[in-house]
Amino acid sequence: MFRQAKWPLKNVFEYRLDEEPISKYIDIEELSKYIPKRLIRRSKINFPKLSEFDVVRHYTRLSQHNYGVDLGIYPLGSCTMKYNPRFNEHVASTFTFKDIHPDTPEKYVQGVLEIIYELSGFLASLTGMDYFSLQPAAGAQGEFVGVLIMKKYFEMIGEERDEIIIPDTAHGTNPASARMGGFKIIEVPSDNRGMLSLSMIKNVVGDRTAGLMLTNPNTLGIFEEDILEIADFLHENGSLLYYDGANLNAIMGWIKPGDMGFDIVHVNLHKTFSTPHGGGGPGAGPVGVKKHLRDFLPVPIVEKEGDRYKLVWDLRHTIGKVHSYFGNFLVLLRAYLYIRLMGFDGLKKASSIAVLNSNYVFKKVRNLRGVSPYPDNDKFRMHEFVISLDKLKRDTGVSARDFSKRIIDYGVYAPTTYFPLIVPEALMIEPTETVSKDALDTYIDVLSKVVEEAYDEPSKVINSPVNTSVGRIDEAYGSRLKTFKPTFRWKGLRR
Ligand SMILES: *Cc1c(COP(=O)(O)O)cnc(C)c1O
Repeated sequence: MFRQAKWPLKNVFEYRLDEEPISKYIDIEELSKYIPKRLIRRSKINFPKLSEFDVVRHYTRLSQHNYGVDLGIYPLGSCTMKYNPRFNEHVASTFTFKDIHPDTPEKYVQGVLEIIYELSGFLASLTGMDYFSLQPAAGAQGEFVGVLIMKKYFEMIGEERDEIIIPDTAHGTNPASARMGGFKIIEVPSDNRGMLSLSMIKNVVGDRTAGLMLTNPNTLGIFEEDILEIADFLHENGSLLYYDGANLNAIMGWIKPGDMGFDIVHVNLHKTFSTPHGGGGPGAGPVGVKKHLRDFLPVPIVEKEGDRYKLVWDLRHTIGKVHSYFGNFLVLLRAYLYIRLMGFDGLKKASSIAVLNSNYVFKKVRNLRGVSPYPDNDKFRMHEFVISLDKLKRDTGVSARDFSKRIIDYGVYAPTTYFPLIVPEALMIEPTETVSKDALDTYIDVLSKVVEEAYDEPSKVINSPVNTSVGRIDEAYGSRLKTFKPTFRWKGLRR
């Protein structure tokens, strides 16, 4: 039988704190037993008076002012902003994984340990390493772990080595990590090929050389050709070789750092293995080592005994723990799923398309007016490439920053700007494999258009962006204060 509701029905939001004094509803004397009296609010809260619908509209509009990988090409060199399959996100958000308490005893989370174990094995196959720790939460933390392993290794064998060699084409985190580990940085310049040469290495290697940290492909997007000779030479000197494998997207399935003679490597799961990233994580920067360095890894690592998986804590020279529990497990899970979805052949193909896309764009933009490739040679580029707008700036007054801001006006994302530091007016472009040829062509058109504008009407480029909700920000002020006051230009929905 249907029962009629009593009239009038009471509003469930009876307490309107913004309109009436709080004492009407709360016994202040009673409350002051728990909260100091001076902290208890007496007056009304000054909430903005907005309807729920206004709030929904506000946030929906804000969400549409953001540009992201899901909206279009995001060719941020060095950052590998590629598509993140929704399947991974779905699995990572199911309670089966998401809600596991990290203190659950080993025997109840055999499946989780299996994933960590298997993923370590996949990464070992892809990099040619023997053991992995999946704990580090980012590439930079992986580097720091690698550096600490080097340090402990030389302590253990009783050698005083306090120098690490880093080429000028390394990622900026390399010298920072080595310095944090207490090493002196010996910087070596790249040659006119954009590479490191054995003769330059010979100039700086000595009995204090702990090792070399190499980003490969380097930040110019060029594969280091002399790496085998360099590796042999350093090993003969008793030094270790560290491979910054954040750029694994360029070489997966084709070539392995382990085969090139490297002792330690880190990879960036959030870049190559499809975790949404940018804006601070979470990420994962697993570190792999050759057999002789296994005992230095952070603990615990996961190993298999019979058909059981177990946590191994007693590594003899371990540098300790670098992350609570097992690292960022949900990032590890996404990487595991991605590798299983792609298979090694799929990964290999992904790398080849990433390199193909990059070279396609490179060929089209390297000859634009005012643009020069860096280095200015015909070397094959890998998954990313660098151009310099030095000439364009001298001709027109338009800087790389102006240029990038104008690109945004056309509804696509700007490349990495002013990095690497050795390139004047640098733009670093990495399209990735998950961009269609149409999108690449559109991007190339935008770059050509902005070059034309720079020569015809430079003020247009210099005063950009004009189509975005936030104009230029005061970057110096922003980085000093960690907050900034952008000038907002609310224009409603754009896309
Ligand atoms: C991104 C990147 C890093 C740093 O990785 P984070 O996860 O951002 O700390 C290191 N080296 C290279 C080559 C990179 O591209």
